[in-house]
Amino acid sequence: MSVYIDRFKGWLQTVQAEHDSVIDEALMINMHRLRWMAFVVVPLGLVLGGAYWVGADGSAPSVVAGSRAHAWADFSMAAVMALLGLGAQHVIKQGRATPMAQGLTLLASGFTLVITIAASTMDQTYLSGITAFLFGSITIGAVPLIRPRLALFMFLGAYGLLYYALALTQQDPVLLHIGRVTGLAAVFLSFCVSVGLWRQATANILLHRALKSINDALKSSNEALAAKEGELVVLAQHDGLTGLYNRRAFTQLAESELARANRYPCDTSVIMADIDFFKKVNDTYGHPVGDEVLKHLAGFLSAGVRSTDVVARVGGEEFMVMLPQTSVEAAVMLAEKLRVLVQDSPIQLGDLRISITVSFGVAGIAAGQSGTVDELYTAADNALYDAKHQGRNRVAVCALGRPPEAPVMPAASRL
Ligand code: GH3
Ligand code: MG
Ligand code: MG
Repeated sequence: MSVYIDRFKGWLQTVQAEHDSVIDEALMINMHRLRWMAFVVVPLGLVLGGAYWVGADGSAPSVVAGSRAHAWADFSMAAVMALLGLGAQHVIKQGRATPMAQGLTLLASGFTLVITIAASTMDQTYLSGITAFLFGSITIGAVPLIRPRLALFMFLGAYGLLYYALALTQQDPVLLHIGRVTGLAAVFLSFCVSVGLWRQATANILLHRALKSINDALKSSNEALAAKEGELVVLAQHDGLTGLYNRRAFTQLAESELARANRYPCDTSVIMADIDFFKKVNDTYGHPVGDEVLKHLAGFLSAGVRSTDVVARVGGEEFMVMLPQTSVEAAVMLAEKLRVLVQDSPIQLGDLRISITVSFGVAGIAAGQSGTVDELYTAADNALYDAKHQGRNRVAVCALGRPPEAPVMPAASRL
């Protein structure tokens, strides 16, 4: 037996926790419903009140008095609902469930029940039904979202009030009994509807919340994925050490540049740069220092060219610069400028001061001349070979079409 009691307690705790967690959303739903109710009930109350007021004209004084009382009840219902509607509008504007939202929900529900009990009580003087209370009770069961334990107290209280109020105006014991039984059925039905709708709303709110968190998680993982994709694209196109374009990206960019130069004829040139006796730098100072030197040279090259030029690291200590709309002569002048810049800019690494020189090979395709990236690359490589061969730290040019040279043997003794 105690197992069942424990289970029931566990279930109750879960349900209570659920209800605690959804109460704010439920109250905000109530505020929207209350605003709508005000829209409907205010004109309805005025019309009904007006009808009661004038409808009994010419009748017996007791009927007129009853009708007038009814009309006042409807007018006050309209006035109170107007105020409640304005209060709901205020909470909606604030955008969060304040204690006022709870107060308005209770006021609207309590007032509706009390006013319809009063109307039904007055009705007993000339009819036996409790139609007004039936409407009020069903409305409060179906429209506002009320926590079941609160709804229980509210409907029990309403029934208690109805039970005694009817006796004030209904003298016939049979009709009084019928009215009370009908009232009991009404509050029972309304309470069941209220609990059912509350449970459904709780499930909806929790589901909505779960969907939202899944949606948020999906959104942020999509964003992370897009960012990673972007990083991958950058990684695939760039050299990790210097941040310059890598050889693959350089080839692609050069191909599209040559295609453009073919369509709108103009000169295109490239410069290949290779550090002189770089092996010696590594051997003397170590690989990490060699890396720093490579980064500095990347900086010199990038700073020395136009933003439309493409600088890439195409090998260990070999760099390429693509110069769109540039003649070979202009490319030679730029290479010479870069050569002097590197030669005259010793690299300071802590206490170390390292001077390097670079050899440059220049090649170009004149406007209207046909040529591929490979041919341009080979010609620049040939020119670089010449520059190395002629003593390094210099600029050499090679025309397109010369076959590739044998590799240069480094003259290590020169450092
Ligand atoms: P040369 O004047 O003929 O160009 O002589 P060199 O010593 O510069 O030429 P070589 O091709 O013999 O040496 C290139 C060196 O570049 C060898 C290699 O250790 C170094 N190197 C290649 N990639 C990297 C790198 O990423 N970091 C460092 N620190 N060194 C590298
Ligand atoms: Mg070298
Ligand atoms: Mg080399």
